Amino acid sequence: MASERQGDERPLGILCAMPEEMLLLSHAMHRPRTMTRAGARFVSGRLEGHPVVLAESGIGKVAAALTATLLVERYRCRGLLFSGVAGGLDPALGIGDIVVADRLIQHDYGAVIADRHVPFPAGAFPLGAPPSDVGFILDRELRARLRAALAGYVPPYLSGGVLGEAGGRQPQLLFGTVVTGDTFVNSAAARLHLHERWNAQAVEMEGAAVAQVATRFGVACVVIRALSDLAGEESQMDFGRFLELAAAAAADVVRRVVKVV
Ligand code: SAH
Repeated sequence: MASERQGDERPLGILCAMPEEMLLLSHAMHRPRTMTRAGARFVSGRLEGHPVVLAESGIGKVAAALTATLLVERYRCRGLLFSGVAGGLDPALGIGDIVVADRLIQHDYGAVIADRHVPFPAGAFPLGAPPSDVGFILDRELRARLRAALAGYVPPYLSGGVLGEAGGRQPQLLFGTVVTGDTFVNSAAARLHLHERWNAQAVEMEGAAVAQVATRFGVACVVIRALSDLAGEESQMDFGRFLELAAAAAADVVRRVVKVV
């Protein structure tokens, strides 16, 4: 996940999986031009004065990888940024918290050996001795620039007249591990397992696929996720309730970092 930003006039590619995640960003764009390709919607223009191509990929790793590839190859994007929602895994976190991924892992990639899932780095030959670290790590300098751009930032309350787990809590922004797989997690047992297995803060369905594509092309990758739910028994309900507010919170962070990615 390297970054070569200085003097680079190529656009930044910004991905979302769902229209709700695109909404605030597309409204904030200057001179938007919309195109459709391979079932994905692309909007080119300027965001906060910087050239960007915003893309709605659809859900899951393949849709995200396809769209990320088009952003780099067809739209000549210099880097990729994902803006969206996720399920929280860390018991210390709540709905509305924002996780900037400093490690991205495809939790469903690997081998099944004697009833056990053995993880391997995405794209690697899944046999032999598994390496100890299977994640995509955020570039150190890029991490420092993101930290500086977000210093003192306080995420918005997710009120909006909705009740439930987010009520009255001041959300926080943190850097952490985000795990990606092709399943929506709506299970207390799976949530616990993913947290303990990876020491992960959040789970979603696209981020580490975008990181894999970005690594292959040698471009930067940043994933920003606001928690719409906590991936447990209530996650389906909470997701529906908080999707729009959490998506807006992630988009707000994205607007503050486009200049440093
Ligand atoms: N029930 C929803 C499913 C959307 S999939 C529907 O009917 O539309 C969930 C989307 O939000 C994915 O793009 C994923 O990246 C993210 N996400 C949010 N919470 C998640 C969770 N608990 N598990 C996995 N992905 C989650």
